[in-house]
Amino acid sequence: MSKELIRLQDVTQVFDGETVLDHVNIYFNDSEFLTLLGPSGCGKTTMLRIIGGFQTPTSGDVFFDGQRINDVPPYKRKVNTVFQKYALFPHLNVYENVAFGLRIPKEAEDGSREKIKLSKEEIDARVREMLEVVSLKGFEHRSIASLSGGQQQRVAIARALVNRPRVLLLDEPLGALDMRLRKDMQQELKRIQQRLGITFINVTHDQEEALAMSDTVVVINEGVIQQIGTPEDIYNEPKNAFVADFIGESNIVDGIMREDKVVEIFNRRFACLDAGFEKDEPVDVVIRPEDVDIVSEAEGQLRGVVTAVTFKGVHYDTIVDFYGFKWLIETTDYCPVDSRIGIKIDPDGIHVMKKSKYSGMFGDYSSYSEEYDEINDPTLVEVDEEGRDDEE
Ligand code: ATP
Repeated sequence: MSKELIRLQDVTQVFDGETVLDHVNIYFNDSEFLTLLGPSGCGKTTMLRIIGGFQTPTSGDVFFDGQRINDVPPYKRKVNTVFQKYALFPHLNVYENVAFGLRIPKEAEDGSREKIKLSKEEIDARVREMLEVVSLKGFEHRSIASLSGGQQQRVAIARALVNRPRVLLLDEPLGALDMRLRKDMQQELKRIQQRLGITFINVTHDQEEALAMSDTVVVINEGVIQQIGTPEDIYNEPKNAFVADFIGESNIVDGIMREDKVVEIFNRRFACLDAGFEKDEPVDVVIRPEDVDIVSEAEGQLRGVVTAVTFKGVHYDTIVDFYGFKWLIETTDYCPVDSRIGIKIDPDGIHVMKKSKYSGMFGDYSSYSEEYDEINDPTLVEVDEEGRDDEE
C-alpha cells in the first residue's frame, strides 16, 4: 500500500500580482517516482521550491508525514535537491564533493542543543556506498573537471543522497545532457530510485522523459494541475485537449456524444468505449496517429486526401485532409501525396473528453503539413559553392 508523504493543500503562489500556482491540491506518496510536467513557466519549479522550503507559498499549507512544515527551513526538511546546474565544488575531488554535507555537524532530531558529528569511518562508509549506487566506484580521487557531464550529474546525485533524505527533488536534472546520455540517465535514475526506495520528485518539460521514468505524472499548465495519473493513463485517457496535445501526437476534433459508446465526428457515427456524457453533449475527441488504419476509400469510415508524407524509419507520417481538417496518421503503408484514402478507427482508438477552455486550440495539422512540404522541397535550401546552406 502506498502511503502519503507530502501534501500541498490549497497552495497559491503569487509573484508581482501574477498567479503562478492557483489553489494547488496534491499529495506525493512514499517511495514513488513522480514527475511534474508542463511547458516553461507553468509553475513546476515553483512547486518544487515550495516542497524544498526555498519558497514560502502566498497561501496554503505544506505537510510532511502529516506535520505542517510551512515554517520549517530547507536544511531541516528531510528533502534534498539536485539542480540542473550541478554546482559541484571544482576544487574538491569526487570523494570530497560527496562527503561535504556529511562533515557539517547536524542538529539532533530531538531538538537538543548538541550537534551530531559523524565519525570518519561512518562518513567513509556512506560516501563509498553512494558512489557505488551511482556507478562511480573507483572515481573517488578524480577531479570534477576531468568528468563527463553524465558523471558530474552522478556526483551531484550522490551528494544529494548521502544525507539519506526521504525525498529527492530533481529540477530538470537531465537538461544539460545530450540526447543519448539523457536516455541512459533516465534508466539510471529510475534504477537508483528503486534501489533506495525513496521518493523522487522530478521536474521536466520533456514528455518522453516523464513517460519513461515515472510511476506518476502530474501535468501542469498555467499554475493549474490538469491531470494526475500513471504514464499509461495520461497517454491513453487524457482529461482535456491540453493534455492530449502536450503528451504525444494527437488529432483532436469536435464531436457530439449521441449516446453512451457512440460519438459523432464529421457527421459520421463511431463506436467508442466512453459513456456517462449527456445525450448530444458537445465533446472533444482525441485520436492518436497510430490508432488510425488506412483502408480503401470504399471501406473507409471517413474519406480524405493525402497532402504530405514523411518517412520516419519505422513508419510514414502521413497528413490527410478530411473536410479541411488535417490529421496526422502514422502508418507503415505508403500512400503517395494526392491519393484518396479511407480510414478506420477501432472503438478503443477513440477517446472522448469534456469540452474545456483548451477546446479548439490544438489538434489540426495544417501548419505541420506545410512545414513538412517545405522540408521536402529541396529548392527552399540555397546551397553555396562550399556545399553549406546560407543560414550557417
Ligand atoms: P521553467 O521550466 O521555465 O523553469 P517552470 O514551469 O518551472 O518553468 P517556474 O519557474 O515555476 O516555471 O515559474 C513560473 C512563473 O513564475 C514564471 O513566470 C517565472 O518567471 C515566475 N517566477 C518564478 N520565481 C519567481 C520569483 N522569485 N519572483 C518573481 N517571479 C517568479
